[in-house]
Amino acid sequence: MAGTVLVTGGTGYIGGEVIDQLLGRGYTVHTTVRNSAKSEPRLRARWPEAGERLKIFQADLMSDDGWADANAGCDAVAHVASPFPLGIPKDKDELVVPATEGTLRALRFANAAGIRRFVQTSSAAAIAYGQPEKDHFDYTDWTNLTAGVPPYIESKTVAERSARDWVAANAPDMVFCSVNPVAVFGPVYNDDLSTSIEMVKRIIDGSIPLIPNMGICVTDVRDVAKAHVAAIEAPAEKVRGERFPTSTKFLWIAEMADVLRQRAPEIAGKVPTRRMPDWLVHVLSVFMPEMKQIKPELGNVRDVSGRHSEEVLGFTFIPAEQTLEDTARSLVQLGIVEV
Ligand code: NAP
Repeated sequence: MAGTVLVTGGTGYIGGEVIDQLLGRGYTVHTTVRNSAKSEPRLRARWPEAGERLKIFQADLMSDDGWADANAGCDAVAHVASPFPLGIPKDKDELVVPATEGTLRALRFANAAGIRRFVQTSSAAAIAYGQPEKDHFDYTDWTNLTAGVPPYIESKTVAERSARDWVAANAPDMVFCSVNPVAVFGPVYNDDLSTSIEMVKRIIDGSIPLIPNMGICVTDVRDVAKAHVAAIEAPAEKVRGERFPTSTKFLWIAEMADVLRQRAPEIAGKVPTRRMPDWLVHVLSVFMPEMKQIKPELGNVRDVSGRHSEEVLGFTFIPAEQTLEDTARSLVQLGIVEV
């Protein structure tokens, strides 16, 4: 059922994988980038055979320029672009405003172009925060913003809520759903690393000498992209209004380090073995912003189930151990990490 799909944020880790899978399935892909002079050569180099089946448009989340052309002739939108920085901005609106306004802009232009299928890349950030009494979550849960959450978490929650409200009020016949990944890992294709990949890089390149007492849920970029494609292709009644968390397994960082040592011993020489005591994280957080981000996560289980997505979309996620091994191997193969 190939057609034409707009993928916003084609330079990104997830956006690139969605484009890759769509091209592989015979679609024509339109994609938006912020700076086409910089990004077009990179995208053309990744898909040299795509030719006219890949069209690149310059469009920023904060401006109307370019969006009408990007949407023209498309059957569906995968709206992936959103700021996802490593650090915490001084002003939360640096994230909340582009995430929310950008999503509403993408929806408005898609609706104006007559597009009736819209898949938003939301996040487990919109599911599993601000509820200290809970440690297991699923697609029915929503992050509680009244508890006070970091700017990125707020940006994804407000963007998904606003998108759903906008569709209900302005385009009730549009088939809207979200994909809500946990931390995304898997093979990388260039040295422009997504924030989630930085974590594995720092485990295997020795820049984390001690392992903090924290954990995360793992999902594979190939499954995240597959969920977007399945959500585009599924019958409308199956996906309308749905939320599709992609998540394979909750792992403590210490367990991730063990997996890397067992599955890729030849590249795991610098993977730390010793634990960082919680008191040290507290002390370091006074002058290290990264430690400040880790502090509230110490000892927390935040386990998001992806079972609902596997059942509705009809495929099984790649095991987390494979995902971590493939992440590490690709970082070494590309020369991003030296062993
Ligand atoms: P990424 O590699 O940093 O990609 C982010 C993309 O958004 C890039 O293409 C970036 O374009 C684009 N973007 C950012 N601000 C923009 C703006 N103002 N105008 C236009 N484009 C803009 O991150 P990713 O991991 O692929 O994340 C993609 C999406 O997945 C985001 O919505 C993120 O919230 C979500 N997500 C990611 C994870 C994860 O662990 N990676 C987990 C859950 C959800 P430039 O190249 O121009 O910067």
